[in-house]
Amino acid sequence: MTDKTNGSKSPRMEERLYQNRYQVDEGRPHVKINHQAGGDSEELKALTKICPAGCYSINEDGQVEVAADGCMECGTCRIVCQATGELEWSYPRGGYGILFKFG
Ligand code: SF4
Repeated sequence: MTDKTNGSKSPRMEERLYQNRYQVDEGRPHVKINHQAGGDSEELKALTKICPAGCYSINEDGQVEVAADGCMECGTCRIVCQATGELEWSYPRGGYGILFKFG
C-alpha cells in the first residue's frame, strides 16, 4: 500500500501490530476465567476464535484458558462473556499492559 500523502509505502497491519510492546504485570493477570460447574459456555469457547491477539486456547482437559500477555485491551471478550459471568476483566495497572506504537 502506498501512502498518498508522501508516496512512501505504509506498513501492513501485521507489521504495525508487531511494533506494539507488552509490559507483563507478573502474578496479576488482568483477565481471569471463572469456570462454571456446567462447563465452558459457547461464548467463552468462541473467544478462541475471535480474540484478535489469540489470548484464548483450549487446554488438554478441553477447558478454555487465557494467557493475557499480548492482550490489546480491546474489550471484546469482556462484552462477549458479560452475561455468562465467566470472566473477570480489568485494565492493567498503570505502566503495564499494551504499549501502542501507532496509537
Ligand atoms: S481484551 Fe481483546 S485482545 Fe484482550 S483478551 Fe480480550 S478479546 Fe483478546
